[in-house]
Amino acid sequence: MPLCLFNTLSGQVQEFAPSDDNLIRMYCCGPTVYDYGHIGNFRTFVAVDVLRRFLKQSGRKLRHVMNITDVDDRIIERSAAAAITVRQYTEKYEQAFFEDMELLGIERPELIVRATDHIPEMAGLIAGLAAKDIAYRADDGSYYFRIARFPSYGKLSKKDLAHIEDGARVDSDRFDKEEIRDFALWKAPKPGEAKWQTAIGEGRPGWHIECSAMAMKYLGPGFDLHAGGEDLMFPHHENEIAQSEALTGQVFARFWMHVRFLLVEGQKMSKSLGNFYTVRDLVLMGHKPSSIRFLLAGAPYRKQLNFTFDGLNAAASSVERLRTFRLRLQGPLPPGRSEPMQRLAGNTQTAMRRALDDDLNTAEFSGALFELVRQANTAADAGEVRSEDAAPLLAALAQFDEIFDVLEDGDAQRAAVVVAWAQRERPGMAISAAAERLARAAAFTDEQIEALVGAHVAARKARNFKESDAIRGRLAEQGIVLENMKDGTVRWRRK
Ligand code: AMP
Ligand code: ZN
Repeated sequence: MPLCLFNTLSGQVQEFAPSDDNLIRMYCCGPTVYDYGHIGNFRTFVAVDVLRRFLKQSGRKLRHVMNITDVDDRIIERSAAAAITVRQYTEKYEQAFFEDMELLGIERPELIVRATDHIPEMAGLIAGLAAKDIAYRADDGSYYFRIARFPSYGKLSKKDLAHIEDGARVDSDRFDKEEIRDFALWKAPKPGEAKWQTAIGEGRPGWHIECSAMAMKYLGPGFDLHAGGEDLMFPHHENEIAQSEALTGQVFARFWMHVRFLLVEGQKMSKSLGNFYTVRDLVLMGHKPSSIRFLLAGAPYRKQLNFTFDGLNAAASSVERLRTFRLRLQGPLPPGRSEPMQRLAGNTQTAMRRALDDDLNTAEFSGALFELVRQANTAADAGEVRSEDAAPLLAALAQFDEIFDVLEDGDAQRAAVVVAWAQRERPGMAISAAAERLARAAAFTDEQIEALVGAHVAARKARNFKESDAIRGRLAEQGIVLENMKDGTVRWRRK
């Protein structure tokens, strides 16, 4: 089965065929770096990460562009208020965004590009639109897009154009325009605020033009897929289409993927409701980055994701279950081969592929793997998982983890980064005991832990229980727990 995706533009689930050269050209709207990203933002970035990882797993090559919106009204106002440049204001949040991506195991797109590095390209597009009389210049030097010149305006969001003509504001611009629905391409400078000198005059870009400029610069006038959260469908993506297609006469993006919003405990996330969380907030509360990633990846992108702490704790148990299962397969098994296990592994691999081909159904994808874990654990308890079954079962796990990426235990190191950040930048901020314990476990390398575990086992063999208990206690203080296995070996894991 080929990959089928819901295309907002057509309103249907359609086969997402690659271009002739097997290279997928895709653009995903990136963060606005005016503050730390929240878990809703990262739901969208994890969903796009799932898409890119599955495309690679399916043998595609990628040219994935993500922009960094490092200029917008809030950034300009805040940097002006702090009397620093836009770049000085945004660099900290841009850095934080990359760190958060790493915390959540989000792969870096092939190209990450900043809006402020593409101002001349934006001015060039606006000049081209003005030359065609599709853009016009207002008295103050701002430029607007004349929506009346783009008859298919509304085709993405299926907005009722007549309604928009009735006077609903298409954009939040406070500037003069011919028609209320026209949107700003370029904004005249305001005293004391950042501005750029360009071929169309001085000022700053409207929000939408950056994505048209960067997408077309790096992917060409027409490309395969454009993604973002559902809030961007209108007006942002609609305006991107208008600006680009009015200029080039070509279809801008063939597929549009929109990720549904994340809610928290059934409500919209907002600071006033006290349910607003950044990734760092959750880690400092003691939640593992792998649990957060598992939770965000596990809900199909077109389903609303209701984030709850029960759900997050359940995600932690799920990850733990997978890690323990992998250790079990890596441990000693009775010799031979079991046909049911071989078949289970093969069928699960097929089912997992099918689930993602079906509009990236990550719930079914992980459901198939957990069914394998359940059956294989039962079989292993009865001694019916054989040494030759380990490889195919591990292959199914690996196929899963190429997408979810939660099996390698990097949680302690990642938590340590966040705890160090909080101690440095947020003195006084609450750091839970669980987060501290997890971060402390990072101080030990795997080799050091192995050496201590070896010493613990040796002391036990020598019946020096005082020594073996002391080592166990020392490891426990660092968040590392030892488990005595039936076969006499000792396994360790970070708590
Ligand atoms: P921003 O930093 O506001 O430009 O947003 C970055 C990305 O996060 C965009 O694709 C948004 O659509 C997306 N986004 C914002 N809030 C949420 C949410 N609650 N759930 C899912 N995605 C969101
Ligand atoms: Zn965009």
